[in-house]
Amino acid sequence: MRSIQMVDTKNQYLKIKAEIDAAVLNVIDSSAFINGKIVQDFAANLSAYLGVKHTIPVANGTDALQIAMMALDLQPGDEVITPSFTYIATTEVIALLRLTPVFVEVDPKTFCMEPAAVEKAITAKTKAIVPVHLYGHAAPMQEIMAIAARHNLFVIEDNAQAIGCDYTFPDGTKKKTGTIGHIGATSFYPSKNLGAFGDGGALFTNDDDLAVKMKMIANHGQSKKYYHDIIGCNSRLDSIQAAVLNIKLTHLDEYITARRMAADYYDKALSGSKNMIIPYRASYSNHAFHQYTLLLEGIDNVTADRNELNEFLAKNNIPSMIYYPVPGHKQKMFEQFNVNTLPMPVTDWLTERVISLPIHTELDEEQLGFITSKVSEFINKKTLK
Ligand SMILES: *Cc1c(COP(=O)(O)O)cnc(C)c1O
Repeated sequence: MRSIQMVDTKNQYLKIKAEIDAAVLNVIDSSAFINGKIVQDFAANLSAYLGVKHTIPVANGTDALQIAMMALDLQPGDEVITPSFTYIATTEVIALLRLTPVFVEVDPKTFCMEPAAVEKAITAKTKAIVPVHLYGHAAPMQEIMAIAARHNLFVIEDNAQAIGCDYTFPDGTKKKTGTIGHIGATSFYPSKNLGAFGDGGALFTNDDDLAVKMKMIANHGQSKKYYHDIIGCNSRLDSIQAAVLNIKLTHLDEYITARRMAADYYDKALSGSKNMIIPYRASYSNHAFHQYTLLLEGIDNVTADRNELNEFLAKNNIPSMIYYPVPGHKQKMFEQFNVNTLPMPVTDWLTERVISLPIHTELDEEQLGFITSKVSEFINKKTLK
């Protein structure tokens, strides 16, 4: 059996090596390392794929979120509602801009923002909502957009984990996640569903004015060369990354299909296991399976058991990960906002139980069979005890 990786970018590359190498060499040959034509070509192709008017490439996903918030003219002290159960980048940029993060609970099934919790968290200072499509499952955008419209709030989607995921509205229309809110932000970090060979990110919007503003902010607030109208930053996707991403974009749908096939295999092998909950798939979202995350439940000491499963798998040369061991409201960096006093029972409950299995485009049946047999072995041993 081939060794099992959490993410296997190497073998994914080898399958399209000729294509990628040629594209990268082409950039080197042109010497247009920054702002090469390929960056605009990739942006146009990604816009077409997502069905969105504007794609603004930037240096990474964290910058994308920051630039989105800068473009909305939020003032220090303005409140931004966001889940506590997410990667730190989502919430850190809020604090970095001297805005106030307001953490809300997630749905224990989808791991995504709970609309009722959002509604309850709104105050006169609330300016924006940042839903996260965690693990590749869409947040309930229909409800979130309705709340935002009622209260005149902006919605920035953190789509770093869900690029390619379709959201189906009650009337049957479909949109790609990241294109539903006023702004969408994504990351091309190598392990993401559309991964570069380094850092990268992008912003999406259908709003012409926001697009112009975000483009300016990402380029030192410049309207024309050396004329800087607003305060910005330096956040560029380089041409080599754009060349890699432009090729990988043509394979994105097959990559997501491969992830879904691995998830289906896991589902079939693990569903019905005692003390374990397999990922939920809401009918409005077709899961892009950036992660395949199990919940351990009902064994004596859940956290200890979860950590024990993590160690047991490691002993069998199977990597697994805890995304994320500490939720936002318990991170030291946010203590200044008094967030650690908030009761967040659902988030705490999830934090103690989640464990993510390897999922990527290169898993074969032999590997999947071995992983599921070891997970089942552990669960059975625990349950019989
Ligand atoms: C990866 C990720 C980001 C940040 O992206 P970077 O490119 O690493 O800056 C933001 N939010 C979520 C949910 C992520 O998974």
